[in-house]
Amino acid sequence: MTNQQIVLAARPTGAPTVDHFALRTIDRAEPADGEIVVEQQWLSLDPYMRGRMNEGKSYAAPQPLGEVMIGGTVGEVIESKHASFKAGDTVVGMGGWQQYQLADASQPGVLRKVDATQVPLSAYIGVLGMPGVTAWYGLNRICQPKAGQTIVVSAASGAVGSVVGQLAKAHGCRAVGFAGGADKCKYVVEELGFDACIDYKAHKDVKSLIKALKEAAPDGVDGYFENVGGDILDAVLTQMNAFGRIAVCGMISGYNGGMQPLAQPALILQSRLTVEGFIVGEHMEVWPTALKELGALVISGKLKFRESVAPSIEQAPEAFVGLLKGKNFGKQLVKLV
Ligand code: NDP
Repeated sequence: MTNQQIVLAARPTGAPTVDHFALRTIDRAEPADGEIVVEQQWLSLDPYMRGRMNEGKSYAAPQPLGEVMIGGTVGEVIESKHASFKAGDTVVGMGGWQQYQLADASQPGVLRKVDATQVPLSAYIGVLGMPGVTAWYGLNRICQPKAGQTIVVSAASGAVGSVVGQLAKAHGCRAVGFAGGADKCKYVVEELGFDACIDYKAHKDVKSLIKALKEAAPDGVDGYFENVGGDILDAVLTQMNAFGRIAVCGMISGYNGGMQPLAQPALILQSRLTVEGFIVGEHMEVWPTALKELGALVISGKLKFRESVAPSIEQAPEAFVGLLKGKNFGKQLVKLV
């Protein structure tokens, strides 16, 4: 029996291409005592993986060359030599870009059992996984929305942004998104229930983005959930209300390199803003509460999500390259087995 894997073949400068990855096929290992084998059904592709492809220092160690790319996965236990797991259990973990994971199940937190009877298994690496908790944390703990306020989020149709806007609506806020293209904006408003969405690609400069934001958020912006950076951040800063709050979650427009200067940092002072960056993995204490709340909303149909699926492991690199260009529409997944 074999196991197909994707490894990092070279470190990109600028935008990655499929040539920075390599597919390899190895024999599937047999589990020793305490180990289990997971047949991985879904892989989550996430923007943070671009940072791991770099050599330099960041908040996490670089992805080693020649090793299986890291990534969140969900799948089914097919062999177990550990008392706490049996064949047929569905589990979520960090199995990486490969079809089968051999895991030491005695390591705490390596694998978590999940119930796939009420929600699809893939949701546990999306709306009911890391992206969902990211949205929950940045919105609730940093933006701190109150009914009647206006919350803006960039990359609004994506895994994180789509949850931010829907949760903001549930708090009684006006939710405004930025997304790339008319189709994504239509979905954000009509399917997800945002009040407005700005297609940033239809605006050629910051001035034009500001004009559109003034129309979409006539009472100004109280909370901004930042996923993108660059011109969108410059535009939103001009519309922040006094004592507004900005959750700096991601800066995807700069992940392929280059500086992202801020046009008017003095606005942080003038508007007395709180600007806070965060990494969701450093706030494990909120995960149980967040997942419980998100799970109830998904099961009741109040929290919607959308997925983009690459149909096989061979297509994972192409899907990842596409994610960084906005080709995904919703949570980007790869069907591994
Ligand atoms: P998405 O599902 O939103 O996919 C990424 C989206 O980013 C694309 O679809 C595209 O949407 C948008 N995008 C890509 N390039 C650009 C660009 N140059 N300018 C503007 N938009 C761009 O990804 P996630 O929801 O998984 O992640 C969203 C953000 O949250 C990322 O910045 C990510 O790094 C961050 N994040 C941070 C975490 C934390 O702990 N701090 C944890 C998880 C995610 P469009 O077509 O609309 O432009």
